[in-house]
Amino acid sequence: MLLEKMTFGEIQAALDEGRRDVVVPCGAVEQHGRHLPLEVDAVHADRLAQEVAERLGTALVAPTIRVGVSPHHMAFSGTISLQPATFEAVYADYCRSLAAHGFDNILCFSAHGGNFGPLADMEQRLDDLVGPECRVLVFADLHGLVGVWRGAVGDAGGTPDDVGGHADVAESSVYSYLRPGGVRADQLARGYSGPVDDALLDRLFTGGIKALSDTGVMGDPHGFSPAIGEVCVQRVADMIAGHFAARLGRT
Ligand SMILES: [Zn+2]
Repeated sequence: MLLEKMTFGEIQAALDEGRRDVVVPCGAVEQHGRHLPLEVDAVHADRLAQEVAERLGTALVAPTIRVGVSPHHMAFSGTISLQPATFEAVYADYCRSLAAHGFDNILCFSAHGGNFGPLADMEQRLDDLVGPECRVLVFADLHGLVGVWRGAVGDAGGTPDDVGGHADVAESSVYSYLRPGGVRADQLARGYSGPVDDALLDRLFTGGIKALSDTGVMGDPHGFSPAIGEVCVQRVADMIAGHFAARLGRT
């Protein structure tokens, strides 16, 4: 189902069989504390896209847009950030290309919180761009995602209050599940701990993460495990696939 791994003939055959949904994931290349590498969100997006496509049963998976909108992480070395206009231009060209090949539904989601606002903002413009034969749908429920993480962490034996949304117990668990041995377990440090609400997200996206947390972490990574990570991945994939299925009238 991975577009990049298929030949054009295989893609044409899939389209002819009616597999005309395509998932377009995006991530980020940004700091994730001292214990996680910059690729976390891109690797997470790769996996979620496959899980979502499997659940839908009709979708192919486009290559992850690996770099996202991360100005609030620029105070930490290595972060690469697209301006929202650049990010939208990349999505627009993906959508134009995929619509030209005959996909009916282009399903966009992010594994990086900073892309949610820009994605929600561009949804209608992308949909207008691809014409009446094709739809562009966006999943952009950041509070929903954090809520699912809290539930998954609790059910898998962790502490829900350690979920802060960035490089926390949930995200560190996800990375340990997807890249065994990849977490620098001797470098764990907690960060901002408090409620994750709209006021906090406002402060985060306008003032930058460093003003809230000099570790670069939101929440606490201690107690991470691959088992927690697997539950987080499965439940977030359920939520995203459920969102698209409902909007496509397939529930
Ligand atoms: Zn992340």
